[in-house]
Amino acid sequence: MNLILMGAPGAGKGTQSAKISDKWNIPAVSTGDMLRAAVKEGTEMGVKAKSFMDAGQLVPDEVVIGIIKDYLSSDKCTNGFILDGFPRSIPQAEALEKMGVVIDAALSIEVADEKIVERMSGRRICSSCGASYHTVYNPPKTADVCDTCGSALYTRADDAAETVLSRLETYHSITEPLKDFYASRDLLICVEGQEKVEDTTALVMKALSKFEA
Ligand code: AMP
Repeated sequence: MNLILMGAPGAGKGTQSAKISDKWNIPAVSTGDMLRAAVKEGTEMGVKAKSFMDAGQLVPDEVVIGIIKDYLSSDKCTNGFILDGFPRSIPQAEALEKMGVVIDAALSIEVADEKIVERMSGRRICSSCGASYHTVYNPPKTADVCDTCGSALYTRADDAAETVLSRLETYHSITEPLKDFYASRDLLICVEGQEKVEDTTALVMKALSKFEA
C-alpha cells in the first residue's frame, strides 16, 4: 500500500502513521521529522528550513521534494510506504505524480481548528525516537519520559500558540486544496479524528481494510 496521510498540524498524522506502519509492516516517512533532524544537525538544508519552520510556514517545495525523491528511490519502499506530511501543496503533489509514484489512497484526518489548538498545547515529543504523546489524551506512563526508549520528552518550538495559528492558516490556504486534488483522482478518504487515539485508529484501520490482501 502506498499511502499519503493528510490533516492539519496536530490532527494525529504521526501517531496514526506509526500504527499503520506497525500493522502493515511498511515504512513511514515524515518530512517534518527529517527537517527537524536536519535542523538539529545544522546541515545546509536544516539552516535553510529553520526560519520557515519557526514561523509556521512551509519549507520551499524544492527542498522537501528532494528529500522525498531520495527516500522513495531507496530499497525500503519496495513493499509500500506511508508519507506523513507530504505532499503539503499542489506543486508537491504534482511532483510526486511526475516521479511516476502510484498512490493507493490519500487519507485525511479531520479535526476542527479549536481542537487543534487545544491538542498542540499538550503535545510532547521524544527527544530521541520522535514518538508523540499528549499530556491528557495520550500520556506517557511516567511524566516527561518516553515509554518506548526512556528518553526525555520536549515541547516542539513550533507548537507555541501563535505559531500554531499560522500553521493552521498555512494548512487551510496551501495544503487543504489537496483534498480536492485527490478527490478528483478518486483517492481521498476522510476520517474524523476522535478524542481518543485508539478510536481514531479503529476508524483509520477500517477505512484501509479494503487494501488488505
Ligand atoms: P510536521 O512535523 O509535519 O508538523 O512539520 C513541521 C514543519 O516542517 C512544518 O510546519 C513545515 O514548516 C515543515 N514541513 C514538513 N513537511 C513539509 C512539506 N511537505 N512541505 C513544506 N514544509 C514542510
